[in-house]
Amino acid sequence: MLMLRWYGIGAGDEVIIPAYTYSATALCAMNIGAKVIMVDVREDFNIDVNKIKAAITARTKAILPVDIGGWMCDYDAILELVNESDIISLFNPANERQEKLGRILVLSDAAHSIGAVYKGKPNGQQADATVFSLHSVKNVTTGEGGAIALNLPAPFDNQIEYQFLKAFALNGQTKSAFEKNQPGAWRYDIIDQGLKINMPDICAAIGLAQIRKYHSELLPDRKRIFEQYNNAFSQYDWAQLPPYYNECKVSSCHLYMLRIQGITESQRDELILEIAKQEVGVNVHYIPMAMLTLFKNKGYDIKDYPITYHNYAREITLPVYNGLTEAQVEYVIQSVVNAYHAVIPVRQEVS
Ligand SMILES: *Cc1c(COP(=O)(O)O)cnc(C)c1O
Repeated sequence: MLMLRWYGIGAGDEVIIPAYTYSATALCAMNIGAKVIMVDVREDFNIDVNKIKAAITARTKAILPVDIGGWMCDYDAILELVNESDIISLFNPANERQEKLGRILVLSDAAHSIGAVYKGKPNGQQADATVFSLHSVKNVTTGEGGAIALNLPAPFDNQIEYQFLKAFALNGQTKSAFEKNQPGAWRYDIIDQGLKINMPDICAAIGLAQIRKYHSELLPDRKRIFEQYNNAFSQYDWAQLPPYYNECKVSSCHLYMLRIQGITESQRDELILEIAKQEVGVNVHYIPMAMLTLFKNKGYDIKDYPITYHNYAREITLPVYNGLTEAQVEYVIQSVVNAYHAVIPVRQEVS
């Protein structure tokens, strides 16, 4: 919301998001009065860049790609698209910042992907701005909160925009309570109609301690769990493994999103019940927004997002968290295999 407000987006504007994400991606745009345009995803769960182009209109002001599960989107392709001359000539700048950028803002929802790597560079250096979540279930947490990495192209000065955003997140006030308390420093200004979404110092202290051990302990631990799942499930032709790494990307291993080949949504639900009987807690990421009441009432229809539905209907998210032991991961794997044999009838050999 902070970054969309920074770009002066509001009523009458359109923001493009993937149909497959947590609702917060949509709500940040809806809560400032913008219209959410959903586009379908690809087999790797992420927004389909080819389908973004068809969704762009003269009202489009931002694209919010989401790095689902920690797997980064194709940022080079998305940035190439927003810089195409026909897309730029469609863009209607409505304020100074929009004139300065001169094109659609690429604002990454990186709630899952802190520490992911894209073409050898850490996440945060691809989109114009990258928004990380530090919510309690995410790879790095401050309890509640988030962080923004600015990567705006020239002529923007990211340091100046940072100073502005710092005030903008604190009611638009130029000094924090601590800064105002320095001798003689009582006078402040309110420079814009800001929000009150600053990170409390207590939360920041927790986050700093987490960040210090993220690369040495927390992230390698998640990778170990991912690899153990991958090694086990790669032996089963019914298991479709989540994207993890390729020549261009390395995942931050946020969610282990297993998909089961050739099953229906109700068989997936039965599998989850069987797994639960073995006292393993699994989850589904995500129920597509177009299947939730708010969005259905606004006219979004899951039939318009077939790959989103196909990914969702076969998906089961397995536990990944720091401290999960090798033996526990093995137990989870066995519970999934047991559930599969209990629920899915043996397929007939075709002679
Ligand atoms: C968690 C999450 C968010 C919201 O993060 P908060 O820190 O709770 O605001 C946004 N997008 C996605 C995809 C998420 O998973």
